[in-house]
Amino acid sequence: MNIEVNEILNTYDGGLTWRSDYAVDGKFCVARLRNRLDKAHHPVGDGEFWWLNSVPKKVTSFVGRAKQGRISFAEALERRNILVTSPMCGLCADQIESTDHILTSCSMVKETLCMVLNWCGIPLEYFSGVNEVLAFARNWGHCPKKKETLTCIIYGTIWSLWKARNDRIFRGEILKPAKIMDFIKGTVFTWRKYRAKKGDTMDWDKWCVSPLTCT
Ligand SMILES: [Zn+2]
Repeated sequence: MNIEVNEILNTYDGGLTWRSDYAVDGKFCVARLRNRLDKAHHPVGDGEFWWLNSVPKKVTSFVGRAKQGRISFAEALERRNILVTSPMCGLCADQIESTDHILTSCSMVKETLCMVLNWCGIPLEYFSGVNEVLAFARNWGHCPKKKETLTCIIYGTIWSLWKARNDRIFRGEILKPAKIMDFIKGTVFTWRKYRAKKGDTMDWDKWCVSPLTCT
C-alpha cells in the first residue's frame, strides 16, 4: 500500500517507546487505520489496481489477492504439503486447480464470463488469467463511468465464481453458469444501488438489459 510506515508508527526514546496518530489511550486503533486506508489510493503489489468504493472491501481484497496469485487453492495447499484429495479442478477434472484456471479459464468459468460480456454488450473475449481480465476492464472503452461499472461487474464476477467454487466444494452445490450470472447481476446491483448510493438512478429492469448504461 502507498502509506509510509512512519506515518503509522514512530518510535522515540531511542526505540524504547512508540507513538502513533492511530493509537487511542495507548492502544493501536484498527478503525483509524482503516479510515486512512479508505482515503488512500491503493496500488496492490504488481501494477495498477482499482480500489472501488462501490465494492465491499472483502471482495476488493480477494480480487487483489487473486491478481497476485495469492489464493490458497489445492495447488497452493499441495505446495505447502497440506493434504488435499486431488490437485485437479473439481469442475472439469482436466486441469490443475490454480487461481487463473478457476477464475478465468476453466470451461464452466469461461461460459460464465461469456455471459457477463454478452450482458454488458461487449464482443466475446477469452482470458487466460485474472490479470488479463482486470486489465481488459480497466482499459475498455473511453467512458470513465462505464469503465468503472464494468470493473465493478468484473470484481463481482470473480467473487461470485469463487463463491460458486466454495459452495461446490464445501456444500456440494453445483451452480450452472446461468445461476452464477443471476447472482452476479443481483449482487453488483445491490452494491451500486446502496454502497455507491446511486439509489433511484439504478433501475433493476434496465440493469438486467444494459448494465453499462446504468451509471
Ligand atoms: Zn476446470
